[in-house]
Amino acid sequence: MTKRLLLLLFIGAASFASSAQDGYWQQNVNYCMDIDFNAENHTFQGAQSLVYTNNSPDTLDHVFYHLYFNAFQPGSMMDVRSRTIADPDPRIADRINNLQPNEIGFHKIEKLTQDGEKVTFSVEGTVAEVQLAQPLLPRKSTTFEMKFNSQVPIQIRRSGRNNEEGVDYTLTQWYPKLAEYDRDGWHSEPYVSREFHGVFGTFEVDITIDSKYTLAGTGIVQNPNEVGHGYSETTPASEKTTWKFKAENVHDFAWAADAEYTHLQSTLSNGTELHFFHRNDSIINQSWTRLVPFTEQLFNIMNDKFGVYPYAQFSVIQGGDGGMEYPMCTMISGTGSFGGLVSVTVHEAIHNWYYGVLASNEQKYPWMDEGFTTFAQNIVLDSLFKRNNLNPQERSQRSYISNALSGKEEPLSTGADYYETNRAYGSNAYSKGCVFLDQLSGIVGQETFDQAIMRYFNQWKFKHPTPLDFKRIMEKASNMELDWYFDAWIGTTKTIDYGIHTVTSSGKKTIIEIQRIGSLAMPLELKVTSEKGVQYSYIPLEIMRGAKPAPNEISKDWKQENDWPWAYPFYRVELTIPFESIKRIELDPFQKIADLDSKNDAFPSGNISFPPK
Ligand SMILES: [Zn+2]
Repeated sequence: MTKRLLLLLFIGAASFASSAQDGYWQQNVNYCMDIDFNAENHTFQGAQSLVYTNNSPDTLDHVFYHLYFNAFQPGSMMDVRSRTIADPDPRIADRINNLQPNEIGFHKIEKLTQDGEKVTFSVEGTVAEVQLAQPLLPRKSTTFEMKFNSQVPIQIRRSGRNNEEGVDYTLTQWYPKLAEYDRDGWHSEPYVSREFHGVFGTFEVDITIDSKYTLAGTGIVQNPNEVGHGYSETTPASEKTTWKFKAENVHDFAWAADAEYTHLQSTLSNGTELHFFHRNDSIINQSWTRLVPFTEQLFNIMNDKFGVYPYAQFSVIQGGDGGMEYPMCTMISGTGSFGGLVSVTVHEAIHNWYYGVLASNEQKYPWMDEGFTTFAQNIVLDSLFKRNNLNPQERSQRSYISNALSGKEEPLSTGADYYETNRAYGSNAYSKGCVFLDQLSGIVGQETFDQAIMRYFNQWKFKHPTPLDFKRIMEKASNMELDWYFDAWIGTTKTIDYGIHTVTSSGKKTIIEIQRIGSLAMPLELKVTSEKGVQYSYIPLEIMRGAKPAPNEISKDWKQENDWPWAYPFYRVELTIPFESIKRIELDPFQKIADLDSKNDAFPSGNISFPPK
């Protein structure tokens, strides 16, 4: 066999393997952008050449572009939503409504062609709908050439100029961006407040800007020697420098520019480069220097537990407005406590796993990026600060429980923009999404979970996984059925509450009667401490069609009980321990379940007569 034939066979096998994944397909983009930036009036001229490949089985006769900057205008959907939602975000409130003409943002498309032919398009708010000159057939590519001009708004969540920390430019959601068409159809959502979805591909972005600025962003600078460190005393203020960035296998491109950026750098043992850009200020300099080793550790832990960061470089950039994730970089506030700085860096960097690489549709499944990120963040922070919490996810559990008890909870399946309150969105996306994973690790067992979460990363990297894709990975890894959990936790607001109903003496035995009070059934663990020592009872649900193995550390004290058919409100555990020698019985001793009422979870407790009659 020739080498060439071998190679072809190999490619054939590889593409078969990926198409065997449900016949999965996704679109591809190749952007080349030339940006001429005018820092005097905060505007820029853009030339965008975009090669779009239709890998779908469908013929497309139109496409959409997001024009995010148009949101920063009085009367935009984002403005109105920010003012009329029940609990306005004070960081936005009426700020958009008060913008002056020279402070608003906009994109104006001056010219757009498809393979040289003019196309017609209409703009509605933050979306341009383009009728193609020629239909785009399956597995064909087409080239869009666009000329546009844009004005950078005053920074308001999360893009813009002159933010409160003094960063000159945070350019995020800053260019006309093709909307994604995927297995689930078109996603041309207007920009209302949050969350994104984009097409994977290559970005080559040349930005010509006053030489006094240092730039940082997605991708890798292709001409580092030419741009040097930006400003030098001998550079005339009027002179411009062109920064050439290139990024591959990403679905967005963001950048920032400041005349006073200080640049720190470090390289991980596996070669990944970490870059830090912050404003030059004695307090910030100190805290960001301390941040470097924490960021190194964070990448090492993530690589080890959740999948290896696949890009050559990552940049932590002071963008001056909270924290927000972008491929290969993050924009975060630079000031505040050191603990806060580490926490936000950890959170936003982890988004490169859950958002950047595993690019679930954030609008439809905001919890698949925020919840998964929060879950890993809690584990990483627990390790960085050596907290050794019994359950590092406890805070997220409490936050979820408080929302569930508030009466304002909405199903986790609610689209990010469609929540009635910002609070319900935040609690669901971050906390309920995090608890989803924590409970799942309790259901399938820690070792299985750890292997499967890594498999999920490797199997779905650079793709758009959905909850179903994740469920299949977990089901195969655990050999369990998990619909009952995924469907209820994601699609409903059913809650969990178990209680120890009675504990009674029966000769030399003790009978524990457990009650399912909540509407959502879960497998249970029970810890019994007696004069004989400690033992655990594990009660799988019948509907799981499986059971997790005994955890290694406690396998000799572990007893698997009969399955619990979930419809039964009560379940009996028979202990071969005399009642008199029992010291304590606890439900869910590892705190893996978001049980709404913990008062009935232990015996003895005030709610149960002791000793029973
Ligand atoms: Zn986040």
